[in-house]
Amino acid sequence: RLHKLPFRFNTPRFSLPSFSIRAMTSHIVGYPRMGAKRELKFALESFWEGKSSTVDLKQVAADLRASIWKQMAEVGIKFIPSNTFSYYDHVLDTTAMLGAVPPRYGWNGGEIGFDVYFSMARGNASVPAMEMTKWFDTNYHYIVPELGPDVKFSYASHKAVEEYKEAKALGIDTVPVLLGPLSYILLSKPAKGVDKSFSLLSLTEKIVPVYKEVVAELKAAGATWIQIDEPILVMDLEALQLQTFTNAYSELASSFSGLNVLIETYFADVPVQTYKALTSLKSVAGFGFDLVRGTRTLNLLKSGFPPDKYLFAGVVDGRNIWADDLAASLCILEVLESIVGKEKVVVSTSCSLLHTAVDLVNETKLDKEIKSWLAFAAQKVVEVNALAKALVGKKDQAFFASNATSHASRRSSPRVRNAFVRKAVAALKDSDHRRATSVTARLVAQQKKLNLPILPTTTIGSFPQTGELRKVRREYKSKKISEFDYVNAMKEEISKVVKLQEELGIDVLVHGEPERNDMVEYFGEQLSGFAFTVNGWVQSYGSRCVKPPIIYGDVSRPRAMTVFWSSTAQSMTRRPMKGMLTGPVTILNWSFVRNDQERHETCYQIALAIKDEVEDLERAGISVIQIDEAALREGLPLRKSEQPFYLEWAVQSFQITNCGVKDTTQIHTHMCYSNFNDIINSIISMGADVITIENSRSDEKLLSVFQEGVKYEAGIGPGVYDIHSPRIPSTEEIADRINKMLAVLDSKVLWVNPDCGLKTRKYSEVEPALRNMVAAAKLIRTKL
Ligand code: GLN
Ligand code: ZN
Repeated sequence: RLHKLPFRFNTPRFSLPSFSIRAMTSHIVGYPRMGAKRELKFALESFWEGKSSTVDLKQVAADLRASIWKQMAEVGIKFIPSNTFSYYDHVLDTTAMLGAVPPRYGWNGGEIGFDVYFSMARGNASVPAMEMTKWFDTNYHYIVPELGPDVKFSYASHKAVEEYKEAKALGIDTVPVLLGPLSYILLSKPAKGVDKSFSLLSLTEKIVPVYKEVVAELKAAGATWIQIDEPILVMDLEALQLQTFTNAYSELASSFSGLNVLIETYFADVPVQTYKALTSLKSVAGFGFDLVRGTRTLNLLKSGFPPDKYLFAGVVDGRNIWADDLAASLCILEVLESIVGKEKVVVSTSCSLLHTAVDLVNETKLDKEIKSWLAFAAQKVVEVNALAKALVGKKDQAFFASNATSHASRRSSPRVRNAFVRKAVAALKDSDHRRATSVTARLVAQQKKLNLPILPTTTIGSFPQTGELRKVRREYKSKKISEFDYVNAMKEEISKVVKLQEELGIDVLVHGEPERNDMVEYFGEQLSGFAFTVNGWVQSYGSRCVKPPIIYGDVSRPRAMTVFWSSTAQSMTRRPMKGMLTGPVTILNWSFVRNDQERHETCYQIALAIKDEVEDLERAGISVIQIDEAALREGLPLRKSEQPFYLEWAVQSFQITNCGVKDTTQIHTHMCYSNFNDIINSIISMGADVITIENSRSDEKLLSVFQEGVKYEAGIGPGVYDIHSPRIPSTEEIADRINKMLAVLDSKVLWVNPDCGLKTRKYSEVEPALRNMVAAAKLIRTKL
């Protein structure tokens, strides 16, 4: 499959020109698995629904792998990865490789097949799935290994070797990629019921023998290089963890002989101590570092690099969609050569390309100028190779020139800069964005206006999104129905949702968000500075992908975005109607962001746009406004040293959106996680009047924050039931939950609400669940 770039070159790796004095070396850390048109997604889902066979699924997968390998080979990449494909998740693949299947999946040994594998990933009729969590600070989710002292590790999935052989049969010698033992162990959690004194680290020496078997088999199959990913090395490791790393690799050393091993790190620079430990490993041939997110990587390298090792220099950004600044990268590579020696620099991506979109050629609707600024995975492969060639004196002048032109166009394009927005952001500096009065005083003022019962009930915003609703939105977008018809359909839906909430006796209502496809896209589409792709999918988990908007320019709000819907909804009821917005940090964290400006600058711009919206809502008579910050926590930098700065601007951005409202306007926020014990002070300093949080899956954890005596004076609504499950909670169960919360929280601040938005549920689940929720609140009110 060829990729039409303006100046593509096509150098089969099998026939590198022999006049080259130095061989150019290029490497790709990993590649998206889903396919440019999400072929794997559709194949998986059809297989799961029983509509296609194992053979069909395997064929789609093999075709995808082959096309990726061939593409890289055609471009000229020297180190082409294999085993970066996965049917669901590469951490789960490692669990399968190590035979670490939790007993409840009933595996009886032997090679792990789809049955056991997909049961772990998705659950089956009798057993729920394993837990899923975010992969570092990305939006990719991995299946968390569950390990205990009794796990009997064994080599139970030969996928890495099979894929290596598969590529070889196609004439392509690849670098098999394994997730390393330390990362695997530290990404795991102790299995349920395991003694508290159990240490996961102690299992490292038990899994190393399996790694040895795998490595030996890869070597026997003909592999000359293998890549071991140890991204955990970028975290702040404890001394014992680092020692375990060193021990594990010295144990592995014997199996590395006769083989070149690359240890790959990504997503940040590695701490100094770790860098020392890592680069003192004698048995490996090369080290890979992130030079994009790893802002201190260059300094580390300058401080010293072992003379006989290869440096895999991750200069091309694997986390974003921008065309690389080739001239700038070439400069860095030349500096690196001067440090580690010519011949020793291998040009690479900053991390796996899994985290970027697949192929720009499929973007048929993107504005031409913006498109010229972008590079997706397929284009990044070409960039890596172009840099590697340039480094050995075979610079493709035309390719570099066109790259320089697109960068110049991006720098000078009037659509990127908006003087008015820049002035407004500059004016924010040094001012205090907190609301003037204390939250306690504000709550009193709000209560006078809202007159809510104790333990007020509310929901998080969305109501079930029916197929009918999606169809109406789709038809309106494609101009199949008129604006008039669309607005009427939405009004009808809102009226239905309002009536239902009134009938249920909910205190603070929502309009149900029927007009929104996605909480970020909806706002991005109405803000300036955003672009949207048609196929820019990125894997989120399993077969699920997201299509993040691209923020390419200064953000502004040409006109009100939600006021019409919220005031229409308010006009249908005498109860307070919550206005519903997505917060700036969440919009930022769920988009591809600019790389020509600091993240916080972009965030402040979004904050100002949302601020305008908040104030327009207030003027339109909306006195409760919820600003969702579902993704605030996931933007937290991996390294502790960088967290305070992030939290500072993230909190400020939220404050900016609502610091100008009256005391009587009640600001809510919502968060999709409860694991914020470590950032609770930042959450408090956001200054929301009411915060609703996901909680139903981790009661104790959340409540322990308050037991520990954190001073919390604002309203708080820890979700009383799990909306991620179709189960309908009983009144007693919800009442029990509320009582537990009352043991640590003052009844004056407690709100009663579900965990999160209801859009993925059915009305047949939502109605009875909310009915029970209101009944539980009423029951407890009578007892207070
Ligand atoms: N208001 C949004 C909803 O209810 C919030 C979704 C979220 O937190 N992810 O759908
Ligand atoms: Zn949520």
